Amino acid sequence: MSIEIRNVSKTFDSFKALSNINLHINTGELVALLGPSGSGKTTLLRIIAGLETADEGSIIFDGEDNTKKSAQDRKVGFVFQHYALFKHMTVFENIAFGLRVMPSKIRPNKEAIKNKVYELLKLVKMEELANRYPSQLSGGQRQRIALARALAVEPKVLLLDEPFGALDAKVRKDLRRWLRKLHDEYPITSVFVTHDQEEALDVADRVVILNQGKIEQIGTPEEVYDNPANPFVYNFLGNVN
Ligand code: ADP
Repeated sequence: MSIEIRNVSKTFDSFKALSNINLHINTGELVALLGPSGSGKTTLLRIIAGLETADEGSIIFDGEDNTKKSAQDRKVGFVFQHYALFKHMTVFENIAFGLRVMPSKIRPNKEAIKNKVYELLKLVKMEELANRYPSQLSGGQRQRIALARALAVEPKVLLLDEPFGALDAKVRKDLRRWLRKLHDEYPITSVFVTHDQEEALDVADRVVILNQGKIEQIGTPEEVYDNPANPFVYNFLGNVN
């Protein structure tokens, strides 16, 4: 699904968090939103998700105006930095949740839900851990479950907010390889927020650099790396959160 962000602005109190953002994301692309802390990355992601409303501008999915649609109606998968798994539910139940709460007309039956959950567990290499509770998992395992859960309803758009930021370097690298592979194998469009330039350059098809609520540069990782529009911003990205 393509995403068009048209002239989006957002002000909190009198602070302009986003100014006239225009961006077209192609179907199947993996786009990184990169920028220093406070540059507006999360706000833009939440506006794409429908978790926040823009003061001005529109969000278009595949040519259809979604600006006034709720987050639920936009059918996006969302993954946060801190997993947000349900503590009282097992891994299986966490992943099945989104399927179980579907409207009855489209809800899969019990057997189909089970098959889907195991297919997702396989996808994130967690088949053995279906009956554990989140507290019995490592950070990396929890984030794999959060990814599986986001994918359960087969979203066409996956939005990730610093998804690997809380994990150690090795796990982070494994998971970003996994995200890249997911993109190479499935028709999904993803936008992920990071302040880690290495992560953005390593995994994204295109990198969008935000600075003070404006787009500073858009390009492939090579273009952004070889020819940074604002080396000052770019060089400091790795050091802040
Ligand atoms: P980033 O994700 O790049 O760190 P954010 O999008 O979270 O940036 O925030 C951009 C700016 O908007 C920050 O200055 C932040 O303090 C402000 N902001 C974000 N959300 C709110 C809110 N709900 N209320 C007030 N200010 C906010």
